[in-house]
Amino acid sequence: MSSPDISASEKAAVAAVLETRHLSMGERVVEFEKKAAAYSGRKHALAVNSGTAGLHLCVRAAGIAPGDIVITTPFSFVASSNVILFEGGIPVFVDVEAETGNIDLTQLEQALHDLNGTPEAQRKWLPRKGAEKAGELKAVLPVDVFGQPAEISRIAELAARDGLTLIEDACEAIGGENRGERAGSASDMAVFAFYPNKQMTTGEGGVVVCDDDRKADLMRALRNQGRAPGDTWLDHTYLGYNYRMDEMSAALGSAQMDRLDEMIAKRARVAEWYTQRLADLAQVERPGTAKETTRMSWFVYVVRLHPDIDRKQLIERLGSRGIPSRPYFAPIHLQPFMVERFGYREGDYPVTEDLGRRGLALPFSSVMEEEQVEVVCSILREELAKG
Ligand SMILES: *Cc1c(COP(=O)(O)O)cnc(C)c1O
Repeated sequence: MSSPDISASEKAAVAAVLETRHLSMGERVVEFEKKAAAYSGRKHALAVNSGTAGLHLCVRAAGIAPGDIVITTPFSFVASSNVILFEGGIPVFVDVEAETGNIDLTQLEQALHDLNGTPEAQRKWLPRKGAEKAGELKAVLPVDVFGQPAEISRIAELAARDGLTLIEDACEAIGGENRGERAGSASDMAVFAFYPNKQMTTGEGGVVVCDDDRKADLMRALRNQGRAPGDTWLDHTYLGYNYRMDEMSAALGSAQMDRLDEMIAKRARVAEWYTQRLADLAQVERPGTAKETTRMSWFVYVVRLHPDIDRKQLIERLGSRGIPSRPYFAPIHLQPFMVERFGYREGDYPVTEDLGRRGLALPFSSVMEEEQVEVVCSILREELAKG
């Protein structure tokens, strides 16, 4: 489905770490953090060992406590909701826009209005069960879906009006821009992720970025077993975690960051090859790009199939001809543990469910060649023609 893009400079950088005695949180981590902060235009960057860990630190830094409400979307990778649950918070879902898969701003405004209103108004947005002890609305956690940043500045205005913390899940969107503004640059805290299928990789890893000194200090402590500045190895001011990034990962990330814009450009070229070849295929809708998206940072190439197409069968047929493909995303509210805890049903978030039913991710990476895209598209065309 995807492939990392590793050059000689990354191999040399990782090998050089192995010649030293420092394999965890040293100079390479500091260097990587500097580059990540500069790239996203933020004061602070903290390297962590996954995007999920980074999002969890943001939720802790936002002070989410049991019962607190956090608005987010169900069209995402499961981690963006899970981190709220880790702290006993209640994720309240707002559906997404069909074009981008990002949070629907009209619905967000309505949700903010209602959740600040009467108990009857609040009930329109709360899950049918599991929210009996719902407390205060504390934060908004939008997701930049498939490399296309959400309208973060507009969401920031809405969040500021109600004194909410804005946590941006930018795990899929490093380098993406909305109206010239970079993903991760305008929220209170944002997270990028570096799993091997992302635009750049550290193996496992992520980075949290923010401008607030106090939050950055707290997250640094929580990342490192709760050790506050001045704590020794066995002093733990806070209940913390081991979310540290190691030096090999940071060295890899640092070298990847130097090539990030080049790799994003390569991905855009691959997306363009797909887009040209799928233009006249009526059963397939190509991914949409909003006019506000001034730079797409292609993460995946997800087409939407005509509702009459049997997706499962198509995936099997493509697979039998050597072409991997996957549904993308599966709605979070319909995951078994979510249904059990909050009583969600099919029909609750129709746009998310429609995208979830019809989405098909095709093989995609910066190292794909035009001939490979050609093969995928012609086999897809042949299989669709069989009906
Ligand atoms: C990749 C990703 C994450 C983080 O994933 P990790 O595997 O923990 O690094 C979080 N949210 C979204 C939307 C993602 O795509």
